[in-house]
Amino acid sequence: MQTSFTQEQLADPHTAHSEKILRSCVHCGFCTATCPTYVTLGNELDSPRGRIYLIKDMLENDRPADEKTVLHIDRCLSCLACMTTCPSGVNYMHLVDHARAHIEKTYRRPFFDRLTRGVLAFVLPHPGRFRAALQAARLGRPFAPLLKAVGPLRRFGAMLELAPRTIARPTIYAVPAAYPGRGERRGRVAILTGCAQPVLRPETNAATIRLLTRLGVEVVVPEGEGCCGALVHHMGREDDALAAARRNVDAWTTQIERGGLDAIVITASGCGTTIKDYGHMLRLDPDYADKAARVSALAMDVTEYLATLNLPEPAIEPNLTVAYHSACSMQHGQKITRAPKDLLSKVGFAVKDPPEGHLCCGSAGTYNIMQPEIAAELKARKVRNIEATRPDLIATGNIGCITQIGSGTDIPIVHTVELLEWAYGGDRPDGVPEAKPSTRTSLDALVEAAG
Ligand code: SF4
Ligand code: SF4
Repeated sequence: MQTSFTQEQLADPHTAHSEKILRSCVHCGFCTATCPTYVTLGNELDSPRGRIYLIKDMLENDRPADEKTVLHIDRCLSCLACMTTCPSGVNYMHLVDHARAHIEKTYRRPFFDRLTRGVLAFVLPHPGRFRAALQAARLGRPFAPLLKAVGPLRRFGAMLELAPRTIARPTIYAVPAAYPGRGERRGRVAILTGCAQPVLRPETNAATIRLLTRLGVEVVVPEGEGCCGALVHHMGREDDALAAARRNVDAWTTQIERGGLDAIVITASGCGTTIKDYGHMLRLDPDYADKAARVSALAMDVTEYLATLNLPEPAIEPNLTVAYHSACSMQHGQKITRAPKDLLSKVGFAVKDPPEGHLCCGSAGTYNIMQPEIAAELKARKVRNIEATRPDLIATGNIGCITQIGSGTDIPIVHTVELLEWAYGGDRPDGVPEAKPSTRTSLDALVEAAG
C-alpha cells in the first residue's frame, strides 16, 4: 500500500512504525474472510482491510479521530485472526494499538462511553476493587434486563449479566511467596497472578502451582506484580498500560537477578500476548527497553512451558471428550496451537476441535461489555459450534473465554491446566464429570480373555 507521510511525521517513531506496517499491506482482502466482525456485520469498514484504510487516512492526514473511524475501530475485537490469515505479514496488532492511542488522545467520547470506560479502567485491573464490584453486581443483577433496555446504560446491564452468581474465595496461592518444587529440581519460574482471573477463578493459578511444584519446579509469586496492562492498553490508555508493564518488569527482573528464572508462566492467554509484547511497548524507554525484552523472551503460556518438561505417566485415565476452545490470544496472538491439545490427548482426553475455531467467542477483554450485541452473536455462534462436537466438557486457556462461553452453555468449562493437574494427581475440578471407565481397558480385557 502506498503511503504519503511527510518526513516530519515520520520523525515520530510510532508513526514511522505504523507507516512500515501500512506499506506491507497489499490490500488483497484475504483477511476479511476470517474477521469475526466482517463475518457478522458484512461491512467492509468492519473488516481488517477497511480498518487499515481508516487508520491510514487518520494518521496520514494528521487529523483527530472522527466518529466514523472510532465506531469501526471500537468494533474490532483485537482477536488478531487477520494476522494469522494475512499472507503479507501485516502487523495489525501494532497498527490498531497505535490507532487506539491516537483516538484516546484526540477524540472526546460521549458521556456514557467515557463513564463506562472510566469505571472499567478503575475497577478491573485491581483485584480488591474488582471483588467488591462483583459483590455489588450480585445485588444489581435483577436490574440487568432493565438497564439493557436503556440505550446509554446497556453496557452496565451487560456488566451485571456477566457477573458470576457466586464469588470464589481467594486461595493461599494469590499472595507473594515461593513454592519449592518436590523431588528432583527441574526449574524455577515466576507466575503472573494477574487481576481479574484470581478473583473470577482462583483455582487456575492454584492448580498451576500445585502441578508445577509436583513436577519439581519451584514457583515464585513475586512481590509487586499485578495486572499486565492489556485491559487499558486495548482502551488506548498508553500511559496506564506502560506503567503496568514497568511495574511487572521490575518485579520479574528482581526475581531474575535473585535466583534466575527459566520462564514467566502465564495462565491467561490474553495477558500472555501483551507480556510477550512488552519488549515492543517499552522499546523507546532507555531504562526499560532491555529489561522488557528479556521479560518478553521469558514469557510462556503454562501449556508452552509444560510441553518443555518430560512429563510422567498420568495418575488417572479420564476418558472424557473435551472440546478445546483455542482463545484468539492463544492461537492468533501467541501462535500456540498444538501444545494444549497435545497435553490433553497425552493424558487420555479425547480432544475435539469445534468448527470455525478461528472465530472469536466475543469476550475479547472488555468487548462483551462495550459491544454487547456483537459479542452476544459471536457467543451464540461459538456455543453452537462447540455443542455440535457433543463434548463432556470444554477446555480453554483464557479466563475471558471461560466467562463468556460459560454464560452461554450448561457444558462445564475449565482451564486446560486444571484438567492436567487432575490427570497428574490433583483433585477433579469442580463441575467436571467423573472419569469414564476406559474402553481400551475393556477391549484389552476381552482380547486377553479370548486369548
Ligand atoms: S490479508 Fe494482509 S495484505 Fe491482504 S488486505 Fe488483509 S492485511 Fe492487507
Ligand atoms: S483483530 Fe479481529 S476483529 Fe479486528 S480486524 Fe482483525 S480479525 Fe477483525
